[in-house]
Amino acid sequence: MKTIGMIGGMSWESSIEYYRIVNETVKERLGGLHSAKSVMYSVDFAEIETLQHEGRWEEATQAMIAAARHVEAGGAEFVIICTNTMHKMADEVEQAISIPLLHIADATAEAIKARGLEVTGLLGTKFTMQENFYRGRLVDRHGLKVLIPETEDREIVHGVIYNELVLGIINPESRNQYEAIIEKLIVAGAQGIILGGTEIGLLVKVGNSRVPLFDTTSIHAVNAVEFALSEP
Ligand code: GLU
Repeated sequence: MKTIGMIGGMSWESSIEYYRIVNETVKERLGGLHSAKSVMYSVDFAEIETLQHEGRWEEATQAMIAAARHVEAGGAEFVIICTNTMHKMADEVEQAISIPLLHIADATAEAIKARGLEVTGLLGTKFTMQENFYRGRLVDRHGLKVLIPETEDREIVHGVIYNELVLGIINPESRNQYEAIIEKLIVAGAQGIILGGTEIGLLVKVGNSRVPLFDTTSIHAVNAVEFALSEP
């Protein structure tokens, strides 16, 4: 089994989920007392969130590179960045280390294609929904069509992530708002919805929707275990 390197803390509410899912999945696959070999470097999210919202992306990139080097030095054999948004600098991180990086959008796209879907809605931070690093990858590398909510709804989705979910606040009214936004995406043609924020699965539950929901946290964590258990 390879040692999983996790860059966490963005937010720690979702890093806990990653840690739980990698261990549960290894237990499921190998049985008995087996658990995941892992190293996590967990950042102070207040520092990262400031860099994001002030547009200080070069400093944010350096922070991610430093974190990736810490997990590599700690014995990780590959790395996952436990947030969608900070895949904005995934290429730079990958180039700065000598172990592989498993990209969250690639794992998610594979899960969508395995279900035979072509058009999906995407919920996440504004960075994830609006910028090319995430949608572009789904479209260009994986041939998917990706719909995003309209401007006002993007504000709601983004605000709930930063004002509630990363603080561990689960608000039923926000769940209703998310469900209404998901419904609009379905009406617009989405055959499935990407929960493209690693805390969104804490609010919106897979299985409660009339189309498949792709929870990036669980897809990425399971993908990491599959890679960890694959032959060298
Ligand atoms: N965890 C969230 C994501 O998947 C948002 C927090 C962040 O900005 O990293 O994008």
